[in-house]
Amino acid sequence: MQLTEIRQSPYWHDQIGAPPPLAADLPAKVDVLIVGSGYTGLSAALVTARAGRSTLVVDAEDPGFGCSTRNGGQISTSVKPSLEKLTEKFGAGRAQGIRAEGSNALKWIGDFVAAEGLDCDFRRVGRFHAAHTPQHYETLVRDAEKMRRQEGIESFAVPRSEQRAQLGTDTYFGGVVFSAHCSLHPGKFHRELLRLALDAGALVVGHCRVTHIARQGSGFRVETAKGSVEARDVIVATNGYTTALTPWLQRRVIPIGSYIIATEELPESTIDTLFPGDRIASDTCKVVYYYRASPDRRRVLFGGRVSASETTALAGATRIRQDMCRIFPELEGVALSHAWSGTVAYSFDELAHTGVYDGVHYAMGYCGSGVSMAPYLGMRAGQKVLGLAEGVTAFDGLPFPTRPLYRGKPWFLPAAVSWYRWNDQRQFERALRMG
Ligand SMILES: Cc1cc2nc3c(=O)[nH]c(=O)nc-3n(C[C@H](O)[C@H](O)[C@H](O)COP(=O)(O)OP(=O)(O)OC[C@H]3O[C@@H](n4cnc5c(N)ncnc54)[C@H](O)[C@@H]3O)c2cc1C
Repeated sequence: MQLTEIRQSPYWHDQIGAPPPLAADLPAKVDVLIVGSGYTGLSAALVTARAGRSTLVVDAEDPGFGCSTRNGGQISTSVKPSLEKLTEKFGAGRAQGIRAEGSNALKWIGDFVAAEGLDCDFRRVGRFHAAHTPQHYETLVRDAEKMRRQEGIESFAVPRSEQRAQLGTDTYFGGVVFSAHCSLHPGKFHRELLRLALDAGALVVGHCRVTHIARQGSGFRVETAKGSVEARDVIVATNGYTTALTPWLQRRVIPIGSYIIATEELPESTIDTLFPGDRIASDTCKVVYYYRASPDRRRVLFGGRVSASETTALAGATRIRQDMCRIFPELEGVALSHAWSGTVAYSFDELAHTGVYDGVHYAMGYCGSGVSMAPYLGMRAGQKVLGLAEGVTAFDGLPFPTRPLYRGKPWFLPAAVSWYRWNDQRQFERALRMG
């Protein structure tokens, strides 16, 4: 594989063309200033701008620079901890509320795309979640059945003997199909959100890093690379790119790199073999892989976490390609066209968080599952700024945990990733050896 021929930018960027013209200068004063122009920020802006509030969205880079144009475009119910775990921690009512927000976000994005007529290759394709050992298959099926009974989450089990009808591989030991999960084109979805926010009257300004947020009277003075702005309300939507601008938030989110590759265009028959039902896919490894066919069904897009420490997209590509070929041996010898990465935000309790700290609204910590949750909580943050009751979610008021000595640099990550990856590989290989 010629590494130098691989484009080190998201495959999605190639299909969205130049962005619309954006304002270069900042107004002196706005009702709402939003830091970060990904799904969270733009969705919040859409709500406040449509309600007639003067709204400014600023981004340190080009709008959409962050995860929102880099992700895999897979949409699930987005809440990682189980109902049982959440019940132990928060009690049954709150736990059900939190889990329900995942389904709410999944339903909301489908309704939103349809109602706004968004051109973003949105499809309800379902997910095949594959088991990397027979024991994981049993647990997966049991857990899915519980989720169906207790939460109404649709799914069906697929034994290994029938796996190829869902995914063209014999590497796994069966899996579960979550029929309501969806896919979209992340770049197009972001571009459509940008269009809606601009049409609603929001100003969006790129290359305008916010450097300081200070209280002033009943509002805020916000210093940026392009000057200062007075704002009545501020929403921070910086997720995995959160910095010391907001130290309280920085201490609560864990930035983690995620890496993706795209193959060159493949024959239709290869994609039909690997992704017969166009399902999105992931597996039960602790360091999870996620993959799918591109919306035009010409390429495989394969993502995951490849190394203990952060690395470059190109270095990551070599490792991730090996993992892809282990699952799909027919891709051995296929060239890659793109390799890229982005930084997701984990939280210490694996939950998204939204609320108000020191007068500033925030929504972040999507733990790698933000394609529906980020715009959904962005919308809710916008509604809270407007003082609307529907803005309040089951995430509001939850403790947002940090750890002693943690200041936003996850020194513990390389050891944890190494251990989990080693353990995943060991389990995987042992299960395959035993047949
Ligand atoms: C490789 C990868 C694959 C993923 N795959 C999936 C998937 O398949 N499904 C899924 O559900 N989720 C996935 N995710 C996660 C998902 O993309 C994110 O959760 C979601 O996009 C977060 O959106 P956001 O708007 O909150 O943040 P982002 O889109 O990351 O935007 C944050 C923005 O804040 C800006 N910013 C930071 N500091 C400042 C400052 N001081 N001043 C101005 N601007 C600032 C940044 O420049 C950035 O543009 C993936 C993420 C990555 C990286």
